[in-house]
Amino acid sequence: MKVCLLGDIHANFEALKAVLEYADAQRIKHYVCLGDIVGYGGSPLECIHEIQALECPVVAGNHDFAVVGYTSDDYFNPYAKDAVAWTRNQLGPEETEFLTSLPYVHHDLNDFTVVHSTLDEPEKWGYVLNFFDAEKCFKYLKSKVCFIGHSHIPLIIEKGPTTEAIYEAHYKLYPDCRYIINIGSVGQPRDGNNKACFAIFDTEELEIEIIRLDYDIAKAQAKIVDSGLPEVLADRLGVGK
Ligand code: ZN
Repeated sequence: MKVCLLGDIHANFEALKAVLEYADAQRIKHYVCLGDIVGYGGSPLECIHEIQALECPVVAGNHDFAVVGYTSDDYFNPYAKDAVAWTRNQLGPEETEFLTSLPYVHHDLNDFTVVHSTLDEPEKWGYVLNFFDAEKCFKYLKSKVCFIGHSHIPLIIEKGPTTEAIYEAHYKLYPDCRYIINIGSVGQPRDGNNKACFAIFDTEELEIEIIRLDYDIAKAQAKIVDSGLPEVLADRLGVGK
């Protein structure tokens, strides 16, 4: 079975649409969303509705929960805070209820786990940026693979006899190893590559593909500016930072 894993969409409908069109052309039937559907971008409603239409497992991101008041935005930068306040005003009761209903973690989806931030303390929204952070996650990992988001930087961490960071776009997992895999960000990549980023996982072949796609960046930027959101949020889409 092939599963499309997508997250950190951040209300970027143009990027999301490119990803869903690609997956559809590949005849992907299974999706999992890793959270942060909203925040930063100008199309929160459209993105929520697209994800709802997939009827797939979804976990909460920190921006999703900040918008509905489930987590504090005290530590957000001023631009992110502005976007949280703006997004809150766009949502109707149904969208608010949907975001509010999201769990932190989905365990056991065909022998994999998904969480937006970390498995040890998902409600604290920490980052997995090094082996020390990864070790804490592996302790709580009950399946072979955990997919994560949050940093907006794709990365494969492999735990076998040693722990390795792997930066390959196409990788076959070893049967005896366990993995934490950051699938990057659909709507606000931060690794210096401005293309939309997501992953396709083949659960039988144990192959992971990190995919980058061009999308209409100018249109997504115009929506941010036209919404009155901080222009810096539009600029960063162009540079992928
Ligand atoms: Zn995010």
